Amino acid sequence: MSKDTDKKIVVRMAPSPTGNLHIGTARTTLYNFLFAKKYGGKFILRIEDTDKERSTKEFEENILTGLLWLGLQHDEFYRQSERGDIYVDYVKRMIENGSAYISKETPTEPGQRESVVRFKNPNKKITFNDLIRGEVTFDTTELLDFVIARSPEEPLYHLAVVVDDHEMKVTHVIRGDDHISNTPRQILIQEAIGAKRPEYAHLPLIVDSSRAKLSKRKHGAVVWLDTYKEEGYQPEALLNYFSLLGWNPGDDREIFTLDEITQIFDILRVQKGSAVFDVLKLKWINKEHLKRLPLDVVNSEIKNWINKSLRIKNEGVDVDEGRIEKIIPIIFERISVWGEVTQLIDNGEFDYVLRTPKYTARDLTWKGEKDFANTLRHIERVIILLTDIPENDWTADKIKEVVWPYAESEGKGSVLWPIRYALSGMQKSPDPFTLATILGKEETLKRLSAANDILKNEK
Ligand code: GLU
Repeated sequence: MSKDTDKKIVVRMAPSPTGNLHIGTARTTLYNFLFAKKYGGKFILRIEDTDKERSTKEFEENILTGLLWLGLQHDEFYRQSERGDIYVDYVKRMIENGSAYISKETPTEPGQRESVVRFKNPNKKITFNDLIRGEVTFDTTELLDFVIARSPEEPLYHLAVVVDDHEMKVTHVIRGDDHISNTPRQILIQEAIGAKRPEYAHLPLIVDSSRAKLSKRKHGAVVWLDTYKEEGYQPEALLNYFSLLGWNPGDDREIFTLDEITQIFDILRVQKGSAVFDVLKLKWINKEHLKRLPLDVVNSEIKNWINKSLRIKNEGVDVDEGRIEKIIPIIFERISVWGEVTQLIDNGEFDYVLRTPKYTARDLTWKGEKDFANTLRHIERVIILLTDIPENDWTADKIKEVVWPYAESEGKGSVLWPIRYALSGMQKSPDPFTLATILGKEETLKRLSAANDILKNEK
């Protein structure tokens, strides 16, 4: 980074703990983290809790836990509420040197103060270079003598930010676009306290498909990182997706690990225009990361998420381990996020594995048949064919090889529909050969003879 190459890069993320970790905050933290890692710099996490009414320990905890879960480990940590003495010192010095003054106020509403500390605005044009937006100029006259502290002991945001960035030797301020209009005030304060101006990079806002800013009020839980954590997204997939909210590598690569992004990330390639949040894209990226997981991790995650299903919990279904193992690949095909495993089970999609199917003779019978006689004949025949397959040869291919010629000669629908229905009890399910392999020989024959009984009773 041009003139800064000879000194250590220091960046900071400065969330206010006035709400749960927002995905925009996670994205901005990631960009700070990447920038620090790329240049061997330091990444500071600073909790900006000067607003005592709105800040809570729970929100702070939520932000910290979320960032660490994502893997965005900070190098240093501060809390503004623990740095009161430092700000008092600066306010006093500013009052002494005339860059701030105690201003007598006339309260217009109950609870308003009789006096505050105002900044003595030199009323000038401020021009700064933004690494993303280029040159930005503001006339500060319209800002008047803005308030920097309620009293010397109670600094407000602008003062605390400038003092901290100065004391912590922050070289680059990377933050959301919504702070761009704060920058001239902060530069004025920097100049008044003799602080060096950091480089600025204001990141594009994250918006929805209709270009509305993502906000808790409008979008609800969609904005919280926890929502994605609870739905079973992988942290590395979220980081991958967040990296693309405002940046791209300049070619068509889209799937990266955090290390890979760190190598190729370039703050100068961050776009000016807002970044559209697209949950379908996020899901796709998540699936790409799932595909890269070792098989044993996939297996144990799927089992974990199956066990979260209320259908299983409430009905106390005792699921056969061997059968579960066999549906894992089928489930894995169908999901992009772990939480969808639980949904599939809760929706009853795998009931054929979890419980004995229920149906009538009519359900079992192919739509072209006028009575149940053929169906009964086919089931009886298939039972004989399958009984002959040795246990250790019980594979979908072998079962198909044995049943197929019979089905072809008798009519595929007439033969395969009743087998499939007898095994699954469902209109839609995998093919009967796959079902038979999942269920195993014993359970398959048990279900076929149950179908046989039902058909016989109808005769
Ligand atoms: N505390 C501010 C916020 O939560 C950020 C301050 C900054 O990055 O300068 O929006």
